[in-house]
Amino acid sequence: MDFEFTPEEKEFQKEVRQFFHSESKLLEGVCQEIPGGGGGQGYGPYTWELLRKLGERRWLAPTWPEEYGGLDGSYMQRFIIFEESSYRGGPFGGVGSGMAGPVIMHHGSEEQKKEFLLRIARGEIEFALGYTEPQAGSDLAALEIRAEDKGDYYLMNGQKVFNTRVHYSQYHWLGAKTDPDAVKKHRGISLFIVDLKSPGITIRPLWGMGGLRTNEVFYDNVKIPKKNRVGEENRGWYYIAEALDFERTFVTGSTRRIFEQIVDYVKETKCNGQPLAKDPIIRQKLGGLAIELDIAYLLAARIPWMLDRGIIPSHQAAMLKMYATELEQRLVNQGMQILGLYGQLVGESKWLALNGEISRLYLDNVSRTFVAGTSEIMRNIIAQRGSGLPR
Ligand SMILES: Cc1cc2nc3c(=O)[nH]c(=O)nc-3n(C[C@H](O)[C@H](O)[C@H](O)COP(=O)(O)OP(=O)(O)OC[C@H]3O[C@@H](n4cnc5c(N)ncnc54)[C@H](O)[C@@H]3O)c2cc1C
Repeated sequence: MDFEFTPEEKEFQKEVRQFFHSESKLLEGVCQEIPGGGGGQGYGPYTWELLRKLGERRWLAPTWPEEYGGLDGSYMQRFIIFEESSYRGGPFGGVGSGMAGPVIMHHGSEEQKKEFLLRIARGEIEFALGYTEPQAGSDLAALEIRAEDKGDYYLMNGQKVFNTRVHYSQYHWLGAKTDPDAVKKHRGISLFIVDLKSPGITIRPLWGMGGLRTNEVFYDNVKIPKKNRVGEENRGWYYIAEALDFERTFVTGSTRRIFEQIVDYVKETKCNGQPLAKDPIIRQKLGGLAIELDIAYLLAARIPWMLDRGIIPSHQAAMLKMYATELEQRLVNQGMQILGLYGQLVGESKWLALNGEISRLYLDNVSRTFVAGTSEIMRNIIAQRGSGLPR
């Protein structure tokens, strides 16, 4: 078994690293904007500029065909770009390039492909995921937002919740009910692309403990042109399921960065005249986390390896999602213990450790094990699809 990148991939990784290094200044701004980086609330001018630069290199959707703005490249190349971007605090795995785009490519109309694919790949537009509703989270098929067929258009009424990117995206990638009488509820769902400027849409913020913004979205008699339905009517569930495994293709760069920051901190900080790095309890904690980081990285690298061989990851994507997000929580939990009282400080205090990032992540990362499917659902998928247990 070869755990190394090929010589070409190593060369590519060098090029990607050079690019992100040369954009260090821009990345400082990006880190203040994107959620999960510096605790910002959404893409702003720095992030859009970086996205456009990545788009110029065809690095936003590298696996897509060249005619749609991709490189015709491998999933491993995509992994290399996203790992590096995540490590540097940049964006990775947008909804447009990771979920909406591939579904449009496989099931969308020619008109939709022309209208959206190149703009996604160039970093000009982003989509917000519009699945969850107050009564439909893990049981997504229970969604109720109603798309009524009115001839030329659908009339949309209902509510979504926890739709994270709507306040800075141009389009909503929306699952809605088109057949409320379907015998099996998942067979009455269709997928839509909604222009978020459409009249009748109201967006209200929901704030996480650490300042992370997500949203409620209300649809009040919103007219959606027929041409904006993606694929066949009432087949939306299958397209959503197809794309969900892509949502779980995580990278581990940002987790590694935080780990390295904690390691640097214990090397530089003294307690009672002794470097923290000599404390046996801290050494035990960091030694254990180093192993877990490698496991998460290998689980993450397995996904592109499989995709490049035409194997669809299923329980493997669930393993990665669950392990990587639970590790993020363990890491910041240990970080809080290592930083002690300094770790709890936020704001402008002169005693602030690691820019207050650990305390912010400690609060925000609670949601990481719910987003994109909870840990319990991931364990169910692993037990069922991986170990063959009954439904
Ligand atoms: C910060 C944040 C951002 C989000 N962003 C988006 C977004 O952009 N777009 C979007 O559409 N959604 C988004 N979500 C929604 C997210 O996908 C849902 O929260 C998640 O799927 C869980 O649904 P729920 O919150 O309704 O919990 P529920 O499904 O009600 O689950 C409640 C509890 O019951 C457990 N449970 C449920 N069913 C089972 C089962 N069958 N077996 C075992 N345990 C079970 C769950 O694990 C959980 O612990 C976001 C959520 C958060 C918190």
